[in-house]
Amino acid sequence: MSKPVALVTGANRGIGFEVVRQLAEKGYAVALASRDERAGREAAARLAGRGLAVEPLQLDVTSDASVRAALERFRERYDRLDALVNNAGVLLDEGVSGLEVPVETVHATFEVNVYGALRVAQAFAPLLIAREGGNIVNVSSIMGQLAYAGPGYLAYRSSKAALNMITRVLAAELKPHGVRVNSAHPGWVRTRMGGPAAPGTPEEGAGPIVWLATLGPDGPTGGFFGPGNKPLDW
Ligand code: NAP
Repeated sequence: MSKPVALVTGANRGIGFEVVRQLAEKGYAVALASRDERAGREAAARLAGRGLAVEPLQLDVTSDASVRAALERFRERYDRLDALVNNAGVLLDEGVSGLEVPVETVHATFEVNVYGALRVAQAFAPLLIAREGGNIVNVSSIMGQLAYAGPGYLAYRSSKAALNMITRVLAAELKPHGVRVNSAHPGWVRTRMGGPAAPGTPEEGAGPIVWLATLGPDGPTGGFFGPGNKPLDW
């Protein structure tokens, strides 16, 4: 039987890169997707150089044409998909209040964090449905929890709350096909987005994401999980 195959978006750096590495270490063939072709090629080469089955795939989640082209190239290269990790994300309204954040900033945030994740899930779900199994992981954040929302980060928080709803709806729709859909919170980790003060490492942040990406048929669906694979409130 051929190796299981995973696709990770926004994987040229940060948590996504680490998710690719850990999945490849577990024996997956991984498509390392990046909006910047060169950055993706360089990142994939670093892992392929260690003998891991990682190949770059240009994919800008905000572009229908890019996602369509990526799907075509993916189909040429792989005969199956077992895990889709919607990791690409932006945080554009740090330090800005909700009363002042430009609506354009909210829009730009949703373009990546919400519509981007949905666009990729809609494009690649048929490959999971065809195999009657597999996992979609939406990389979310506790910043999107309605239960504990506070001031600021209106664009980012709203986008992750919307992403969590996408998780719930797709989980319900894909359940009859044996496909699981979950949201993951990596914890606050040191990446360009998380900043140098974050307590965790990208390696730690990848933990719950990789766990959800590799769930078997008895695994949960429609849930929200954080560090230590612990369930989180919405
Ligand atoms: P990061 O280091 O800033 O990396 C973000 C990745 O997303 C980069 O590869 C970036 O590509 C990519 N990206 C942005 N726009 C894209 C687009 N239009 N198409 C494709 N890729 C795009 O951030 P990170 O900390 O690893 O974050 C990864 C995920 O974890 C995000 O969804 C984030 O919201 C979530 N998260 C992070 C933390 C944390 O503490 N770090 C906490 C909770 C949740 P470029 O290199 O081309 O910009």
